[in-house]
Amino acid sequence: MKNEIAKLIDLQTIDSEIAGFDADIALKEKIITNKEALISEKENEIAVCQEKITALQANERQAKMDHEDANARIKDRQNKMMQVQTSREHQALLKEIEENKKQLKETEEQAKAFAEQVKETEQEIKELENLCAGEKELLAEAVQEVEREVKKIDADRKKIVSKREELSGELKANQLKRYNMLLKKRDGLAVVQIINAVCQGCFMTLPPQQFNDIRKGEKLHLCPNCQRILYYMEPEEEAVDN
Ligand SMILES: [Zn+2]
Repeated sequence: MKNEIAKLIDLQTIDSEIAGFDADIALKEKIITNKEALISEKENEIAVCQEKITALQANERQAKMDHEDANARIKDRQNKMMQVQTSREHQALLKEIEENKKQLKETEEQAKAFAEQVKETEQEIKELENLCAGEKELLAEAVQEVEREVKKIDADRKKIVSKREELSGELKANQLKRYNMLLKKRDGLAVVQIINAVCQGCFMTLPPQQFNDIRKGEKLHLCPNCQRILYYMEPEEEAVDN
């Protein structure tokens, strides 16, 4: 039984190492997804700017049309001036011409303002595109670096995975099954040490009788609380200087 426990401890060490490699790989890949997210965020901003430009240009066209209409109305009223007979009609036409002149000025200013905003937004797009291009370069570099690093981690991982397969073959089928199930259910920790009668998986104190049995190491013990496989290791004796 002591041998079985030793093998389970070794298996746990291996699985913790594999989990460490997996976490390292995930961390490296996160660098890439973060950079990609940053780029797509900028691309979204560019798309928003482009929509804004389309709307501004439509407004500018409308202002120009209003401007032409006001101009046409002024000419029309000026022609009518030649034909009117009464001073009341004359006054009315003059008033209309004044109003349209005001519109002429307003619409011209509006068109100018919209054109200015289009220019500003185009500049904004240019800056975003520059940023995007820079980010993409960085991304390409990061992808290469991460690929290189992941390959290295993966090579180490493969070695230890084959060690795991070897060791798995040496364990009894039902024990391996229980171990694998615990590993999955207990967040990657199936075999734990007990220190001062406390389970290092869930930190519950074990009954003294069970603790004494575990110390003997004659059979496999499970934590009554978290069901993890428990083992006891004598504390290392302190060096005696004499
Ligand atoms: Zn426990």
